[in-house]
Parts: sequence; C-alpha cells; structure tokens
Amino acid sequence: MGWQNKQIEKCPCTYPGCPNKNNCPECFRSHIQNQELPACFFPPEVEKTFDRSIKRFLSLKK
Ligand code: SF4
Repeated sequence: MGWQNKQIEKCPCTYPGCPNKNNCPECFRSHIQNQELPACFFPPEVEKTFDRSIKRFLSLKK
C-alpha cells in the first residue's frame, strides 16, 4: 500500500517494537489518553528520550 509506506517513511518514532507504528490513529489515541502526544510532535533530541508528555511539549514552546 503506497500510503502506508509513506507513513512508515515519515514516522520519526525510535521506540522499538511498538505495535502502533504505521498506524497514526491508534498512535495518537494511545498517547492522548495518557495526556501525551505522538513522537512526531517532538524534535529528535526530545523524541529519543521517549518523554511524550503534553507538559514536555508545552515546555518546548516557551
Ligand atoms: S509515538 Fe508512541 S504509539 Fe506512536 S509509534 Fe511511537 S511509541 Fe508507538
């Protein structure tokens, strides 16, 4: 599937073995219910810490 391959290519998440990789709706749903955001909301240096909290996201905007 072409669109799925594009999602794989664009997904910046480095968390290994996540079943939600390449499934943006489930990825977003799983994080937002924990007051978090997906990996693609964070710059690489923050993404690799796996801190996906909204609090951390907002701290980037100051
Ligand atoms: S951001 Fe979270 S849910 Fe999405 S692929 Fe990465 S670890 Fe999985």
